[in-house]
Amino acid sequence: MLHAKGPLLTVDVGERTATEAEIDDLLAETVGGRATATALAHERIPFDAEPFGPENRAYLSTGPLQQSQMSFTGRMNMTGLSPLTEGLVSTNAGGYLSRNFVEAGISVFEVIGESDELLAIHVTDSGVEFEEVPELEGATVPETSDYMAAHHDLGPEHCIAIGPAGENLVRFASVMTFDSRAFGRGGLGAVLGSKNVKCVTFEGDADAAPEVDVEIPNPPEMDIHREAATSDDRMRRQGTTGGTEFINDNFSLPTRYFEGYEFEDADQIGGNAVEEKKYKKGACSACAYACKLPTRDEERGVETEGPEFETVYAFGSMHGVGDIVDVMQANELCDNYGMDTISAGVTVAAYLASEDEFGNAELAQEITEKIARREGVGDTLAEGVARCHDDLGVENLTVKGMEFAAHDGRVLHGQGLSYAVANRGADHMYAGMLSLEYAGELDPEGTLGKADVLVDQENHNAFRDTGIVCAFGGDYVTEERLETLFDADYEDILEVGKRTIERERHFNNQRGLDRADDVLPYEIPDLEDAVAEYYDARGWNDDGTVPETTDAVASSETAVPSDD
Ligand code: SF4
Repeated sequence: MLHAKGPLLTVDVGERTATEAEIDDLLAETVGGRATATALAHERIPFDAEPFGPENRAYLSTGPLQQSQMSFTGRMNMTGLSPLTEGLVSTNAGGYLSRNFVEAGISVFEVIGESDELLAIHVTDSGVEFEEVPELEGATVPETSDYMAAHHDLGPEHCIAIGPAGENLVRFASVMTFDSRAFGRGGLGAVLGSKNVKCVTFEGDADAAPEVDVEIPNPPEMDIHREAATSDDRMRRQGTTGGTEFINDNFSLPTRYFEGYEFEDADQIGGNAVEEKKYKKGACSACAYACKLPTRDEERGVETEGPEFETVYAFGSMHGVGDIVDVMQANELCDNYGMDTISAGVTVAAYLASEDEFGNAELAQEITEKIARREGVGDTLAEGVARCHDDLGVENLTVKGMEFAAHDGRVLHGQGLSYAVANRGADHMYAGMLSLEYAGELDPEGTLGKADVLVDQENHNAFRDTGIVCAFGGDYVTEERLETLFDADYEDILEVGKRTIERERHFNNQRGLDRADDVLPYEIPDLEDAVAEYYDARGWNDDGTVPETTDAVASSETAVPSDD
């Protein structure tokens, strides 16, 4: 099967050392991206590690397609032990980083240890440099980018960076690239913050790094590109916000901290409202689909990229706020401070519920800034809803500590089942049940009989994050084309995804997560029986654990190099 190439680069920020390890066998088995990083994390992060301890590790990884010029491939994976869920998370960001990362001559970047000083790390094809950057303490993400441009002549397409939220260990801090693209979910920005890593840059010369060269099959690549460039999908104009009104009409847009399922002002913050504020096209590297949303409002002096649909939900309907410019401002705050807009918005919604202040966008933004800086009540809220809901006197509406994405599981029951069993909690990118239920391919009502589909969806998405293909390219990078691109049967492709899910689950099991954690904070029909069906379809034990004899768990021990 086609797979990424190149060594694993490990950087110990405490010791200020950098070492390379050859991982060809591991890449041949795991392809790249999320699967490779998960296999490494499974073996190299101690099961009893503290998320903010030096023994936790953060991985940045590419797949083989990041060397192509194919649409839907300008993306990167990041994996680590989450301070929000206490389990493994993988998160995925677009932008322009992937090509620069590959040209630095590596396939996976691993950070361990803990530095005494705030650091920037510079990775090139000729080595690694550590730079102490005390002057960047408390800097926003754009301020950090400006510093790298001024001192190193490197634009934000070369960088990952954290903002004040990551430095302050906000449990849902993101890692940002290209200023506005987020490795959002699960708080890996706080993991970098705990290591005192402010920024990492990547640059190199492709010709100087032949060890990473991957030959990509050409014909499907060109068709995909042409179709992406000529598509008249609404998403090309409105990004993910194009579905807002449809989702609202399907009673799946949670409103006012889950008080309701539909928002009376959805049209004020949906796709048409965002398109009115869009002033140019935006894309990720090499992507002709170009669905990104540079927006601005001159009257109020706001300029940002987005908001995407999940931000419209988290800072719009969940706050009872029906003004798109307010949502744009909140989006900009989260990007600058380096926070996941979903968890931040939902946590602020919990605060607004506790204060009976829905509709108060000004207060929401004030609280958002306080969270990033851990000032006042922001210090409490920075822990996330699962840890602060008692203080607020509101319900803990999370799964495994992760705040819900939109796409209400109380209405889309298969999606609810997915939220319950997902290794990373209430995240909508883990499986695609919501799409099937919106499209009517699956009846949204009921959970029984959906386990086999859910397993396939999870395995598919795990491979998608491995290859790596953008989640919005599904209509173009079809199963058949995946087979051609990866020179593999679709069954074998799903098998790579399956092993990844099993390794995540096994890791989490060792940390004590099991059936008791595969639950929802609200009732949907037959959930307990559906979870049992899911375990059965996966071949797992009745208590939600992965059998020790499972192939993926045993085989990674041999393929992953030791770091002794
Ligand atoms: S479809 Fe949109 S998000 Fe995906 S790679 Fe292309 S521009 Fe980026």
